[in-house]
Amino acid sequence: KQRDPHQTVFHQAVEEVFGSLAPFIAKNPKYTKDKLLERLVEPERVISFRVAWTDDQGEVQVNRGYRIQMNSAIGPYKGGLRFHPTVNLDVLKFLAFEQTFKNALTTLPMGGGKGGSDFDPKGKSDAEVMRFCQAFMTELYRHIGADLDVPAGDIGVGAREVGYLYGQYKRIANEFTSVLTGKGLTYGGSLVRTQATGYGVVYFTESMLKTRNDSIANKKVLVSGSGNVAQYAAGKALQKGAKVLTVSDSNGFVLFGDQGMSEAQFAALLELKNERRERLSVYAKEQGIQYFDGKKPWGIPCDIALPCATQNELDEEDAKTLLANGCTCVAEGANMPSTMGAINAFIGAKILYAPGKASNAGGVATSGLEMSQNAMRLSWASEEVDKRLFEIMGNIHENCVSNGADNGYINYVNGANITGFKKVADAMLAQGVV
Ligand code: NDP
Repeated sequence: KQRDPHQTVFHQAVEEVFGSLAPFIAKNPKYTKDKLLERLVEPERVISFRVAWTDDQGEVQVNRGYRIQMNSAIGPYKGGLRFHPTVNLDVLKFLAFEQTFKNALTTLPMGGGKGGSDFDPKGKSDAEVMRFCQAFMTELYRHIGADLDVPAGDIGVGAREVGYLYGQYKRIANEFTSVLTGKGLTYGGSLVRTQATGYGVVYFTESMLKTRNDSIANKKVLVSGSGNVAQYAAGKALQKGAKVLTVSDSNGFVLFGDQGMSEAQFAALLELKNERRERLSVYAKEQGIQYFDGKKPWGIPCDIALPCATQNELDEEDAKTLLANGCTCVAEGANMPSTMGAINAFIGAKILYAPGKASNAGGVATSGLEMSQNAMRLSWASEEVDKRLFEIMGNIHENCVSNGADNGYINYVNGANITGFKKVADAMLAQGVV
């Protein structure tokens, strides 16, 4: 805090992790050896660079690019790229820190990293997005590699952006390697990667519900966001017979009827968001459903909430409203969508609550599977990838249960933090002070 007093989101992430680890570390003092905790919060390397590109009017634009190489104790740095005007060092350090533990939870050999830019793809033409991605990769390429650092997508970086980034990497490096994941299926991508984060959230939700002899079928589900994670969390919930009542964007949310989103409405959402790149206000008009401008969905009565948009989108007040309306299960699709106040309210009420690093780990896990397939120069059928994803989510759940059991209540925050921390910390201790 003294070194970077303004990095409030990063501090929030560190406090959440270290707060829940404190009793475990007190019982296992070897983890305070050689300033292990201080080393964990200091990125191994931070890269910041200028991204200059030309817009459609011929004006030169200048953005800032970053890559945080947080921790490589258990594998090459791995984590997405975010393109959003709110991106800064603080946000990326929080994401890279979280990513380190999440990747450890997957049991695959991946270290933690994150990157991105304050570039806003919204309202830009395809040609502008391409020129930006090419300019971004022209610097980033020298810092990444299939055995060094493997970026992927995140907010504002989807299939289109990954394609442009990969094309530019290949052009400059003159090699076809697994240097990015989330690639298109025609050039090394893995089946099910697009769906993996959202599907994984629902698999994890099902595992949590099972501990209370329950399931997601017929449950009323609120989803926030309408991007990659939200779409496939909603899609899988729908497939499992749940009633998906909402999706949202940064301007407002849409409310489906009592029976929830239909298959046809789901297909229309994918088309609107991924092909026409339109706003939900337009979707609501087209579907003849209600749109709540400037509002978040948390006031709608539900059984399950799946926050899938962005950090700190669900505060203590929202949490209390959800609880008062009967919500008994929250699984995070986004990274750190719940504030500390909200988390404490959920845990205090002893509902099922899964932090993002556990419930959204399916995306990076499937990226790990994409790297394996690329290394073997083959691709698995979607059933094979989906089966592995399902098993990985089940394993993460089991590990959370064994490390998070607390007098009959499963504290998934403690379970996820302890499981991820142990693996990374043991590897760091074994490798000496570096
Ligand atoms: P997308 O860019 O595909 O979608 C983001 C969604 O969140 C959009 O609906 C967007 O609305 C909304 N959103 C973004 N910023 C804000 C904001 N400041 N306030 C309100 N709404 C906002 O991103 P993803 O779906 O990939 O990512 C969503 C979350 O999931 C992020 O927290 C990300 O880190 C996390 N995540 C993603 C993974 C992946 O595989 N993609 C893996 C694990 C975690 P709008 O269009 O209005 O901006």
